[in-house]
Amino acid sequence: MAVAKILIIEDEPKVARFIKKGLEDNEFEADIAFDGRIGLNMASSGSYHAIILDINLPQVNGYEVCREIRSYNSNIPVLMLTAMGTTKDKLQGFDAGTDDYLVKPFEFRELLARIRVLLKRSQSGLNPENSGNVLRIADLVMDLSAKSVTRDGKKINLTAKEFSLLEFFLKNRGRVLSRSEIAENVWDISFDTGTNIIDVYINFLRNKIDKNFFPKLIHTLIGMRYVLKEED
Ligand code: CA
Repeated sequence: MAVAKILIIEDEPKVARFIKKGLEDNEFEADIAFDGRIGLNMASSGSYHAIILDINLPQVNGYEVCREIRSYNSNIPVLMLTAMGTTKDKLQGFDAGTDDYLVKPFEFRELLARIRVLLKRSQSGLNPENSGNVLRIADLVMDLSAKSVTRDGKKINLTAKEFSLLEFFLKNRGRVLSRSEIAENVWDISFDTGTNIIDVYINFLRNKIDKNFFPKLIHTLIGMRYVLKEED
């Protein structure tokens, strides 16, 4: 059976390492992100089965992290872990999309029990490939399991390369991406700067997902950089 991988987003090193060690002693794999921004980047890799999330975090707080993860993945179990234990805090957490909430200080075995329940409950099971992961922006929806894309409810046919390119954009929505970053991640090689294959593919993709729709999602920036976002 595959090992469940847990992402711990927690800025207090002692707490983060304590949780990581406890999980590893119980046959889980665990990685630590020490701030919200790194946490979001790691979560977007799609390689985790559950996330343990602190609220008071540098860069991006836990509520925001949770909201952003929920914008593209409604399935992954999230457990918030925090010293802030009022009902108002908890409601704010659930409002941001967390599945569970544990107040510090806590006993590790309670955390473990809750993580196990969340993993069991989540339909994603232990294979993130089959988790029915859905990525969204505006009215565009990409279903990674079904390998399908719709915009405004209409099916959009993409080639395998266009699909990978759009998937990369969606996983990095709002982030400015250079041509070479796209080349390395989608084509898995470094292009020399003379080639315009990236621009050609981005135009293919634009014709399919943006041309007949509003708002435009793919934006070109100075220096041949691109960003996927809703607003101008
Ligand atoms: Ca903290």
